Amino acid sequence: MRFKAIRRCVIFYGIILWFLCMGLFSQQGNTASNSIKLHSGEIDKKITDLLAKMTLEEKIGQMTQVALGVISQGEDGNGIPHKIDGVKLREAVVKYKVGSILNVIDGAYTIEHWHEIIQAIQDTVMKETPLKIPVLYGIDSIHGANYVVGSTIFPQNIGMAATFNGELDKKSDQITAYETRTEGLQRKYGPVLDMGRQPLWPRLFETFGEDTYLASIMAHESIKGMEGDNNLEKIDNTGVAACMKHYLGYGFPLSGKDRTPAWIPLGFLKEYFVPPFETAVKAGAHTLMVNSSEINGEPVHASRFYLKTLLREELGFEGLVVSDWKDIQNLHTREKVASSQKEAVKLAVMAGVDMSMVPSDFSFYEYLLELVKEGEVPVSRIDEAVRRILMVKFKLGLFENPYWDKALAAGVGSAENTQTALEAARESITLLKNDGVLPLAGGTRVLVTGPTADRLSVMSSGWTYTWQGNDEKRYPVEKDTIREALEKRFSKNNVVYEAGCLYDKEVDIRQALNKAKTVDVIVACLGEEAYCETPGNIDDLALPGIQYELVSKLCETGKPVILVMVEGRPRLIRGVVDKVKAVVMGYLPGNEGGRAIAEILAGDVNPSGKLPITYPRFANDLKCYDYKNSEVSDVNRYNPEFRFGYGLSYTEFTYEKLVLDKRVMEQNDGIEISVTVKNSGKVKGKEAVLLYVRDLVASVTPSVQRLKGFRKVELAPGEEKVVVFRLSPADLSFIGLDMKPTVEPGGFQVMVGSLTADFTLSPSSKN
Ligand code: BGC
Repeated sequence: MRFKAIRRCVIFYGIILWFLCMGLFSQQGNTASNSIKLHSGEIDKKITDLLAKMTLEEKIGQMTQVALGVISQGEDGNGIPHKIDGVKLREAVVKYKVGSILNVIDGAYTIEHWHEIIQAIQDTVMKETPLKIPVLYGIDSIHGANYVVGSTIFPQNIGMAATFNGELDKKSDQITAYETRTEGLQRKYGPVLDMGRQPLWPRLFETFGEDTYLASIMAHESIKGMEGDNNLEKIDNTGVAACMKHYLGYGFPLSGKDRTPAWIPLGFLKEYFVPPFETAVKAGAHTLMVNSSEINGEPVHASRFYLKTLLREELGFEGLVVSDWKDIQNLHTREKVASSQKEAVKLAVMAGVDMSMVPSDFSFYEYLLELVKEGEVPVSRIDEAVRRILMVKFKLGLFENPYWDKALAAGVGSAENTQTALEAARESITLLKNDGVLPLAGGTRVLVTGPTADRLSVMSSGWTYTWQGNDEKRYPVEKDTIREALEKRFSKNNVVYEAGCLYDKEVDIRQALNKAKTVDVIVACLGEEAYCETPGNIDDLALPGIQYELVSKLCETGKPVILVMVEGRPRLIRGVVDKVKAVVMGYLPGNEGGRAIAEILAGDVNPSGKLPITYPRFANDLKCYDYKNSEVSDVNRYNPEFRFGYGLSYTEFTYEKLVLDKRVMEQNDGIEISVTVKNSGKVKGKEAVLLYVRDLVASVTPSVQRLKGFRKVELAPGEEKVVVFRLSPADLSFIGLDMKPTVEPGGFQVMVGSLTADFTLSPSSKN
């Protein structure tokens, strides 16, 4: 009884505290009252005027999106771009009044070719349709304008997360948006805000890793980078409309296979998977793409709960919701929740999908028209969807200029943009082990070997020039593979190369061993082939045995072996990690990755990346770093190969003076925390300072730690800086048993480096 009374009291004060602190801080919280207004009264009026002039057919056309293949002809595959077919184009935009087109047919186009495409589409709309509503063109610019020849290619998101540098992420998205908009394309299908908590999932590399806070900060930076800081007013004319995806829970399939069911209890979903979307909504993201699969047996495309209650009512999203590829049809053909295609269209539209990525025919248009005429879908629902679509077009300024801004110099792939991509690759690469072999001295003789040593495609992987990113001949010859970059850095005479093996078969290991005799050090580059989405499914987190065999045999030569991992997800290295002298995690660093890796091996650049995921040791021990207390005991351990947040440097950073300013806490204003970080080594370096919080006792079992702050600082040898964090009450909240954000008074611990400090959040200090 007494316990219950205390508990009730604690929860009561917790709720009071929560309301007091609501709105002050941004990471989590009940957002219904924080709904973000994406459009002004002026735009509203324009939309209302336009809607009044539109026929039902024109409205349904706006909700229809088809792929470029539907309006073009010709064969790609040899780098020959598709040409627009005037008859097909007219059928799409004049007869079916299609409002949006997407993507390419598996190939990157030149700027000029993109301009021809956009010109043809918008010219037809302007000349041959009564209301001249510009087409919205969307594209998967995932890590750069990756379907444009000569564009700047950045590390995939998992690498961007490893930089722990939000500004760099924002800058990379600004450049990507600019290079995309310059072509005349106005909408980017990203950022991917799925959580990377299932390492088998083939799209892990598209995520910002396993931590919710990190992904949320990156989400904010990405949206502002893509749409501009002023996006609530207007999307930059050098920006694009962002499309956060894939809402919700898509990245956590139980089987680890792409597009298979996720089972996520609501509290867990809200605690770990919702916050990045919530942050992106608050940052003003204009569009959202739906999870292709299902949560707890409910396909998200047909879910009123996920698309209305949670998204619209709780998160306050006002923007446009698009389906994923063919996913309305999949409600009938794959998920089997609709007995016909027509029923699938009704389910999805009534659940809240505003635009269908059909993408290969006009069936959606036909079915929806019938459904409205039959009274199965009300016109008010159509108007609501079209309003959102038109809002995005107005915000992009498409009615003033449906083409591209001719005043902008193209600047695609400029030296400046490339420099940012190089910076990002440098800051992402993570040194995981160093027995003193690194950095390599000038004049070192190197054998470079392994399946990822001499190919650009494996460093960028999916969404690079083609969907799968595996067509090596599309990659720019002037960019360096790891081998080429090492040859440049250490001179051709000092670097020998032998593949040894491919991804899963031997080329000539004996030859590699022979060459090893002639060198001082071996750089063995393992990892994955390029892949994307479902074709990247794997049955085993271990790599094919031949890769381990190559490294093990090289280690037997007695020459120091440096293992470089180039991969989109953490493939196991347990069998070789103790034998090698150093381990470098490259992730998928993009076109500048070869150079960045060589610079790090040579010590020209001091590594500063930290793992945004837990690197598992065993395939069946896949805990994330924010596990619960009961998951560790005498029997169970958090025993990964490398923990989340881990990463070495060539210098030493020491942490001291962890100070909590309790005064501020008492002013209901959050808590200020400072720590002094010193470079006590001999070379300049950057350090990502990570702040974790532990809730000691809570009514929902607390995690042992949650990341709640990070800052990247650069320090010269001997230099020190005071790094200041501010913890908000929202940072101390969790999703309670009532499924609402809850803050409970009591004991907390803050952890920075190896320092810890405790504080108590007491109800009395809040009143
Ligand atoms: C993917 C999306 C992508 C869409 C358009 C789908 O298969 O799941 O992420 O944006 O295709 O290419």
